[in-house]
Amino acid sequence: MKNILVSIEVSYEGRIHDSASMLLTAAARLGSPIAVIAALPGDVDSLISQLGEVGAEEVFAFADPSVGTALVTPQVEAVVEAAQRFEPMAVLAANTNDSREALARSAVRLGAGLLVDAVDVRDDGDRIVVKHSVFGGSYDVEATVDEGPALVTIRVGALPSDTQKTTPVATMASRQGGPGVFAGITGIEYALASGDRPPLRAADIVVSGGRGLGSKEGFSLVDELADALGGAVGASRAAVDAGFRPQSLQVGQTGVTVSPQVYVALGISGAIQHRAGMQTSKTIIAINKDEDAPIFDIADFGVVGDVFTVVPQLIRAISSHRS
Ligand code: FAD
Repeated sequence: MKNILVSIEVSYEGRIHDSASMLLTAAARLGSPIAVIAALPGDVDSLISQLGEVGAEEVFAFADPSVGTALVTPQVEAVVEAAQRFEPMAVLAANTNDSREALARSAVRLGAGLLVDAVDVRDDGDRIVVKHSVFGGSYDVEATVDEGPALVTIRVGALPSDTQKTTPVATMASRQGGPGVFAGITGIEYALASGDRPPLRAADIVVSGGRGLGSKEGFSLVDELADALGGAVGASRAAVDAGFRPQSLQVGQTGVTVSPQVYVALGISGAIQHRAGMQTSKTIIAINKDEDAPIFDIADFGVVGDVFTVVPQLIRAISSHRS
């Protein structure tokens, strides 16, 4: 069986990234997954058990005291060390800023090929083939690495998660010597943007609002529907530029790319730059008062109507269904 490394991102609070289960599921379709983490020595046991919760059967844990202060350098060390030991056919990671950087640097160290922002991945015999959604979702293209391992970042939420709880077998390693020269973190400041809502990039349901919400106050309707559905809130650039919500919630070419199970677009026209960030969502629902709005070209379900009429009815229907 081919070894497939799964580079797992770990937060500063010592939690594995929400994408872990999706990545392990994708890796299991290609070969034998081995989860790779870099961790503070005191966090290793907790992280291995968290990985067991999301189905990791084998873990390579790289203990490094510089985790949390050395940006992605420890994860690069962990991936390179694991690649030398396990000679994988591929290394998978989430398509986040940190994991993209970690895999890019690992690719240079290993002399390997890098494929970023894949929306699917498949085994093609002696190589891995990945699918990318490009030009705002207008085309799907396939890419591969002909020699050596393929290092692949996968769009969070693009693939299903289907793992069972396990008790992982762990291989331990630790940094020998100091971390050398690295870009260091000198302080962390937390900005809580979404309260109890799930994070935008990893949410199963995203409810986004556009200029059609009319004002910051009107945009509360998006929050209400997101809360009724247990989803995250997103926004179009026009809504962000108008000050309805912060830029961190912008979905699209110059914002966040999401791929949830359900994407609800309220008062969003569906410009190509917005579609670039949400077109790979599994089910797209649009509510817009203009029946010719381009968002309806990609919507699975559409309602032509005023959001201020339709959405309150929808929220009431969801509440009465729940109760
Ligand atoms: P509009 O296009 O103004 O659409 C508003 C919609 O709301 C209309 O369809 C209207 O019919 C509907 N509406 C109005 N009132 C109601 C109502 N009461 N009920 C129901 N429907 C109603 N955009 C992004 O979103 N993300 C990006 O990352 C992004 N990056 C960009 C990068 C570049 C380089 C450029 C040039 C543009 C970028 N844009 C981006 C902007 C993009 O081109 C659009 O201008 C933007 O997406 C429009 O946002 P909108 O759909 O909210 O607004």
